[in-house]
Amino acid sequence: MTLDVMQTIEQHESVVRSYIRTFPKPFDRASGVRVYDTDGNSYLDFFAGASVLNYGHNNPELKKPLLEYLQDDRIVHSLDMASVARAEFLETFHRLILEPRGLHYRVQFPGPTGTNAVEAALKIARKVTGRQRMVSFTNAFHGMTVGSLAVTGNAFKRKGAGFPLTYSESMPYCGYFGQDVDTLDYMDKLLADKGSGVDHPAAIITETVQGEGGLAACSMHWLQGLEELCRKHDLLLIVDDIQTGNGRTGPYFSFEEAGITPDIVTVSKSISGYGLPMSLTLVKPEHDIWEPGEHNGTFRGHNLAFVTAKRALELYWSDDTLQRETERKARRIYEALQELIDKYPRAGGEHRGRGMMRGIRFAHDKELAGTISEIAFEHGLIIETSGPEDDVLKLLPPLIIEDQDLEEGLAIIERALGEAMQRRGLA
Ligand SMILES: *Cc1c(COP(=O)(O)O)cnc(C)c1O
Repeated sequence: MTLDVMQTIEQHESVVRSYIRTFPKPFDRASGVRVYDTDGNSYLDFFAGASVLNYGHNNPELKKPLLEYLQDDRIVHSLDMASVARAEFLETFHRLILEPRGLHYRVQFPGPTGTNAVEAALKIARKVTGRQRMVSFTNAFHGMTVGSLAVTGNAFKRKGAGFPLTYSESMPYCGYFGQDVDTLDYMDKLLADKGSGVDHPAAIITETVQGEGGLAACSMHWLQGLEELCRKHDLLLIVDDIQTGNGRTGPYFSFEEAGITPDIVTVSKSISGYGLPMSLTLVKPEHDIWEPGEHNGTFRGHNLAFVTAKRALELYWSDDTLQRETERKARRIYEALQELIDKYPRAGGEHRGRGMMRGIRFAHDKELAGTISEIAFEHGLIIETSGPEDDVLKLLPPLIIEDQDLEEGLAIIERALGEAMQRRGLA
């Protein structure tokens, strides 16, 4: 008897399941930029696990050391006790990522998910400053646990908490009121004014491109201003680089070009390189004031993830080849999207994002992005939407994608847009 995958999941799994509804096929194998369903149909993956798979599915160069590690009975679970794999990852991350960029951080391993890294960041910021409140931004997304939800913008997700989310203040992100309003001036005034009603916060947490919140990208100038604002008002700066990091926008950290040094950085998604859960909270040494075990957890640093993470850093971050290639492909994606925007003026397309985290917001019809995603899937392309109203089509191909596959995906998007325009009565 063969198992009916879709029916079994429908019968037994909670209705909370979500991506399965957008991409309702039983997937089984995966390799590089493609995944395959049980009927052997292949799908080009422009979603890449929400940027978990920057180096592709089941990358053979990462699989090899992983299989060897398992084969040799090396230690898989060790809580946060010392292991060779742990030390090798730390040494490699220091040597290839932190040191060449002049960054001095201690690496904390929180639980293995992104929201664990954010929770740790918020806790340490509160402990260091002795203050409780956080400033976050409109349309921010930082995860689903309660501390992270409190600094997340999306009303639907916030409501899921089931009780009031407190000790956070939402401020306008870069460009929130259009390009003519500098939202830093607004924040500066509120933070300085003894009558503003804004209590002195502990920290500001930001993304550099709002991955889930509609792909708004802040300018490097704004990011520099944000760091200055934090210094001026004695606030810690937390950059959530969970989706934007690991080269998604080009450089390893998405804030490198701004030349800023956040007090705390969260990293997850593609850090293991293989889709194994792993996350980091990077903390400036002077803020690393935890008591031993004050922030604990069973899966804080998993050895299998350390093995693939170390190899991924060696493979892709020993020189600037990947970064240059990402920037080149990002320019091609931008060009292709510009052609679509020009070709279909009635779609009201606007550019969003940065690097290989790009998209189009369709201003005239909020359903259009979702319809394109649906049609693209019928044509063998997995592509998601973003934003509180899902009105942004979001391209997140693996960074290692070959030009030919990139062109194939872009062609499917064009075809799907044309068909979606018809279906939506815009053609
Ligand atoms: C995905 C994401 C998170 C949450 O990560 P989880 O692993 O889902 O908990 C937090 N912040 C950003 C920017 C993300 O993209």
